[in-house]
Amino acid sequence: MKIAVVGGGPGGLYFAALAKQLDPAREVTVWERNAADDTFGFGVVFSDETLGGIENADTVVAGRMAEQFARWTDIDITFRGRTHTIGGQGFAAMSRKELLRVLQERCRQLGVLVHFQTLAPMSRSSGESTTWSSPRTAPTPPSASVPRRCSRPRSTAARRNTCGWEPTVCSRRSPSS
Ligand SMILES: Cc1cc2nc3c(=O)[nH]c(=O)nc-3n(C[C@H](O)[C@H](O)[C@H](O)COP(=O)(O)OP(=O)(O)OC[C@H]3O[C@@H](n4cnc5c(N)ncnc54)[C@H](O)[C@@H]3O)c2cc1C
Repeated sequence: MKIAVVGGGPGGLYFAALAKQLDPAREVTVWERNAADDTFGFGVVFSDETLGGIENADTVVAGRMAEQFARWTDIDITFRGRTHTIGGQGFAAMSRKELLRVLQERCRQLGVLVHFQTLAPMSRSSGESTTWSSPRTAPTPPSASVPRRCSRPRSTAARRNTCGWEPTVCSRRSPSS
């Protein structure tokens, strides 16, 4: 089986490593438009519960992350000049750049192919530019159907559907039509 992962952020890299780990015969390829060490933000915070999930899924990644962690259990809430300390909240944090490095290394070790500075083939054929000024400025491909809230008045039948999300093209007629 061939798996193509669009985006080598923490989510894409971790998914790729787990998919390969579960079945080494899979051909897993990650396409990342930015360079390996391009990133934004400062650190990533994990609760004990999240760390438990990571440890269950991949002890190697969990161990390498643990080497980097700053840990704490208290949260201070300051209100009207008084500070209240609430203990027993287990958290750990590490640099986002380090997290990406750990996950990139894990992907390499498992045999996941990671292409940096390369748009995913599907988005290249949809006419997107191959140069990016910022990771957050990618245009939405014209063909993409992005769900969004519909501003048209809702019929009684539609109101019963509580999901609240409508396709981009709204076929409901307005009351005046
Ligand atoms: C300005 C900012 C600062 C933040 N700071 C923090 C922080 O300090 N700590 C924290 O915990 N969280 C922070 N966050 C939230 C954080 O971004 C997300 O929790 C996390 O990055 C989600 O990981 P991800 O892998 O799902 O997505 P992303 O990290 O967004 O990764 C998606 C990747 O896909 C790539 N990509 C997208 N389209 C294509 C394509 N067509 N072809 C190739 N590559 C593609 C992008 O370049 C990107 O690298 C911040 C968010 C923003 C916007």
